[in-house]
Amino acid sequence: HYNIASNKVKKDGDVRFTVTLLEDVTELKRVDEMKSEFVSTVSHEFRTPLTSMNMGLSMLLEEDIGTINEDQRQLLEAAYEDCERLNELVDDLLDLSKIESGKIKMEFDKADVERIIETTIKPFSQQAEEKKINLTTDSMEENIYAWADSNKVSWVISNLIGNALRYTPEEGTIKIGSYLQGRHVYVYVEDTGVGIPEEYQDKVFDKFVRASNNEDENSGTGLGLAIAKEIIEAHSGRIWVESEEGKGSKFIFALPRYRHLSE
Ligand code: ADP
Repeated sequence: HYNIASNKVKKDGDVRFTVTLLEDVTELKRVDEMKSEFVSTVSHEFRTPLTSMNMGLSMLLEEDIGTINEDQRQLLEAAYEDCERLNELVDDLLDLSKIESGKIKMEFDKADVERIIETTIKPFSQQAEEKKINLTTDSMEENIYAWADSNKVSWVISNLIGNALRYTPEEGTIKIGSYLQGRHVYVYVEDTGVGIPEEYQDKVFDKFVRASNNEDENSGTGLGLAIAKEIIEAHSGRIWVESEEGKGSKFIFALPRYRHLSE
């Protein structure tokens, strides 16, 4: 495996020659793969004991086995919540490692982007209402088709909406829309939330990265956007964020347009 970087060298405005640098990253890639494999193995090993802990705790809480007092309930509830969070983390890690290793098969097809957005938004309407957030679709063009795996794209949009709801205070607005440009279909989720500091805007797509303005320490795993990025890149697409602290964030991703592939 090689990384390629190419630079033009100019003199008096004319390109004189090009310097191309080939960097051997085979070893780095190998280490990265080993790391992913390790994470995947550990996550698998966690799954069974976590399920049994979860079941045990919920049976105790439901008092199937005997009554518990208030102090015991509080301890059990705290343990149960931690257990749930660990479950979520393990699920995310397994998803990520499956995508990274190419084990999740992408099912590409002609995907109706407007329909995906409409169906993905629905389950969030109550949550938005409770938080007095105006969740709307922006003027969407009809008949926008991407060459994509609808379920995976819906997962990405869900994740972006979930984040937008989490990082937008009450009375805010979340807008979701799509448009065509050139050979790509663009989808965006725009919020009026806390925003992301500039130095974090590239990094939030890395694993376990959470921006410094994120005070909500107990929710989320820091993996959602990393998974989203893997999914979009598996479509040969791109995902990025435009944001201003205190004003809001706009997450945008591009997918290949359907028409161009079939022509
Ligand atoms: P998390 O589970 O922490 O939300 P993500 O990978 O989904 O993990 O997001 C990574 C970080 O990016 C978050 O912890 C948060 O700091 C920042 N972030 C993501 N979405 C938004 C948003 N809509 N507004 C502000 N910050 C965001």
